[in-house]
Amino acid sequence: MGSRFEITVVANDSITAKGHIDTAVGEISRIEQLISSWDPASQTSEINRNAGNKPVKVDEELYQLIARAIGISKLTDGAFDITYASMDNIWRFDGSMIQMPSEEMIKKSVAKVGYQNLVLDEQNRSVFLKNPGMKIGFGAIGKGYAADRAKALLIEKGVVSGIINASGDMNTWGKQRLGEPWKVAITNPLDKNKAFALLPITDGAVVTSGNYEKFVTLNNKRYSHIIDPRTGYPSSGIVSVTVFAKKAELADALATSVFVMGKETGLNRINQLPKVECIIIDDKGNITKSTNIAIDKL
Ligand code: ADP
Ligand code: MG
Repeated sequence: MGSRFEITVVANDSITAKGHIDTAVGEISRIEQLISSWDPASQTSEINRNAGNKPVKVDEELYQLIARAIGISKLTDGAFDITYASMDNIWRFDGSMIQMPSEEMIKKSVAKVGYQNLVLDEQNRSVFLKNPGMKIGFGAIGKGYAADRAKALLIEKGVVSGIINASGDMNTWGKQRLGEPWKVAITNPLDKNKAFALLPITDGAVVTSGNYEKFVTLNNKRYSHIIDPRTGYPSSGIVSVTVFAKKAELADALATSVFVMGKETGLNRINQLPKVECIIIDDKGNITKSTNIAIDKL
């Protein structure tokens, strides 16, 4: 999935623990094979290849993931959109981009973005991208989904406590060995070495989207890897969004969405959702949090 997963389990001995970790790794690889847009053999690639051509029948699991992704698009007025992916070859964050894409190119690509043109057929369990050149990608939700699945599978196997850490996106259950809750430290990307908050998480996920790892600098301006699907330009103004939610999938998708929605709209939307909280750090270093979050100051 292009990111590093770290898996922690509490078990009676290391052999049992190792077995559980292998199970989690297997599950994450399985999901990668389903949702990867790089792997030409994945169902996701098949959907993309058939854009503008024909609906593609997919597994129930992928169908439901896409249906939930559309739900999040509706919830965020399109700030989150898995069809953002046709912008992938316009904005590249692998170091290969040396100049600003032209307005013309951006306009042409963003015209292909729009979850409204993704057609789901529940009866045939098929997915259809209406316009040629349309593409879906799970960059902003896949890691969270994989972490949720790995966690659910380990719970099913009787693992009482653990952490799935997907490049800093934390998904926990149970407690530490001596009964202490798991705690997550939140750092300010503008002052990296100092954590400014330590929060207990007993059964839930904490996901951060930041523009401090994946970005490109053009004409002295920093562009983040999160694209506003409505304009085709990278979002700006925020350096990091941390979202707390029961499921990593929702936290992952919402962290990306708040980035695009901006501080005010993003916060407003989060405050309307039950059991979802967030912390936003803007590019001036201001830290804003949602109404119901309790932070133990360090
Ligand atoms: P990361 O996984 O790097 O922590 P995110 O979870 O915020 O960051 O996801 C960013 C990735 O999501 C991008 O690299 C891209 O693949 C994809 N993406 C970018 N903009 C959007 C968007 N508006 N909606 C959905 N996915 C997006
Ligand atoms: Mg995300």
